[in-house]
Amino acid sequence: MSFHGPPLGLPGRRSAYPESASRPSWREHPLLASALDLLLPTPCRECGARPVGRLHLCPRCAARIRFLPRSTCRVCALRPGRVPGAACAPCVLDPPPWRRLFAVASYEPPLDGVIRAFKHGGDAWLADCLADLAFDAFADELRRCDLLLPVPMHWARRWRRGFDQSARLAERLSRRLALPCASGLRSPLRRRWGPPLSRLRHADRQRQARRALAIRQPAATPARRSRPRHSWLASLPSLPALPAVPAVPAVPALPARSLLPWWQPCEVEGRSLLLVDDVLTTGATARQACRLLLRLGASDVAVLVIARTPAEPGAAPAQLS
Ligand SMILES: [Zn+2]
Ligand SMILES: [Zn+2]
Repeated sequence: MSFHGPPLGLPGRRSAYPESASRPSWREHPLLASALDLLLPTPCRECGARPVGRLHLCPRCAARIRFLPRSTCRVCALRPGRVPGAACAPCVLDPPPWRRLFAVASYEPPLDGVIRAFKHGGDAWLADCLADLAFDAFADELRRCDLLLPVPMHWARRWRRGFDQSARLAERLSRRLALPCASGLRSPLRRRWGPPLSRLRHADRQRQARRALAIRQPAATPARRSRPRHSWLASLPSLPALPAVPAVPAVPALPARSLLPWWQPCEVEGRSLLLVDDVLTTGATARQACRLLLRLGASDVAVLVIARTPAEPGAAPAQLS
């Protein structure tokens, strides 16, 4: 589900930021960021006006963010539900594997520019502002989940970008919601290397999404090397049998499967999970992640994204969610 190129529905808008543009930001420190904003006010990223708010948008541009109303379908966030807060007809006929999709706003200007700056411009500090938008919109419903889980990113892509945008969002939300978060090696899912999904056609995207995610196998305890048996031991005469010793009750073995317990993925069996990502485009990766998590025994999975790409006019419903 990671977005790396022009979004669906907005042809021709390419990222202005190269993939390798990650850079450390002084804005990571809130006090320093506030002080420098006072001394060197940043212009609005859309129109250049001052002053700006937390997303570096002026009040006029911030008011143009299209927050999705409560009446949109609770499963695809594309069409109005049959009744406010319910699923639309295509989602009832062909429901996706997630229980609920929490989408804050539509992936349109000016929010798309903020998310591109967050992902490709190295502005990792925007994770807090974007996660706070989700918290303000859905805090009560999100608190019913047991565990937050970012959509995993391949380690090489994370190293190149400098941070994992979904993990940043999930960690900020987990702090605000006081819920646990399974990111990095604690995640029960791992990402396989592959081309960015945004460069693929719809059919290839579905196929690649199925290959891109896998269940993280727990680290196995290395087998102990048995001591070599010497042939001269076998030639010694056998000793007389010792008197029988009362049997000691066996100590139950601990369920540890690794020498490094923090490498073990989080247990998801019987838990209500919240899968976190920045943008939902076709939902191919989210579908595959939900299928794997349900196979691991999760009781249900909800998906939270900051932005949902709008439906293309005339697109088939099956290609949208
Ligand atoms: Zn502006
Ligand atoms: Zn729907």
